[in-house]
Amino acid sequence: MNRNVSGSGMTSQRTRARMIERLREQGIRDERVLAAIAAVPRHVFVEEALASRAYEDTALPLGFSQTISQPFIVARMIEVLCDGRELGKTLEIGAGCGYQAAVLAQLTDEVYAVERIELLLAKAKLNLRAIQQFKVRLKYADGQLGLPEAAPFDTIIVAAAAARVPRALLQQLAPNGRLILPLGAASQQLVLIERRAEGFVETRLDAVRFVPLLSGVE
Ligand code: SAH
Repeated sequence: MNRNVSGSGMTSQRTRARMIERLREQGIRDERVLAAIAAVPRHVFVEEALASRAYEDTALPLGFSQTISQPFIVARMIEVLCDGRELGKTLEIGAGCGYQAAVLAQLTDEVYAVERIELLLAKAKLNLRAIQQFKVRLKYADGQLGLPEAAPFDTIIVAAAAARVPRALLQQLAPNGRLILPLGAASQQLVLIERRAEGFVETRLDAVRFVPLLSGVE
């Protein structure tokens, strides 16, 4: 695979800077999150033919009917998870091409990312290697079951919409841990769940549109 990892010179630098400006205008305030997004070359993670659109604020096709998440949604979810704390040990469900995992790896040393489509996982592996990101531990599995062998997690982020919160993910959340996921089918909403001493506390956030969380592997 022939990838332009360093970015196409000034054009990439400028479009990337513009993307960060746009995220600020859309209300992303956490400088750590903005710096993490600025540090990851999104064009490496999209199909060659779409590379020129990599810094637009839009979801793009990854193949296998899946999409790379929109930068604003990646930023928004991570900002909510970071608010007033460190991410700590983090689990991502739905690694796709590895883009969001790469952003998470800018913010914490322990990132596990699970994907149920084997060929996408292979792509994620290549992409992360291309940007020299070796911290992310990729696993081929059904993320609805979480990742029991590495649990508990301080942070869990789900990149596909579930009809209801998978019980395993609640069980694998550490005390004071945070889980964010899109919930719903036709209409979806981002939901933050915090594990506190008194129990799970749920906060409903923005309306969103994600691909569905599916069962099993392929
Ligand atoms: N995080 C990705 C977004 C990928 S889209 C990015 O940064 O671009 C959502 C991904 O979730 C798809 O790759 C899909 O295959 C995966 N997915 C859906 N259900 C899953 C499950 N049960 N376990 C693991 N991955 C799942």
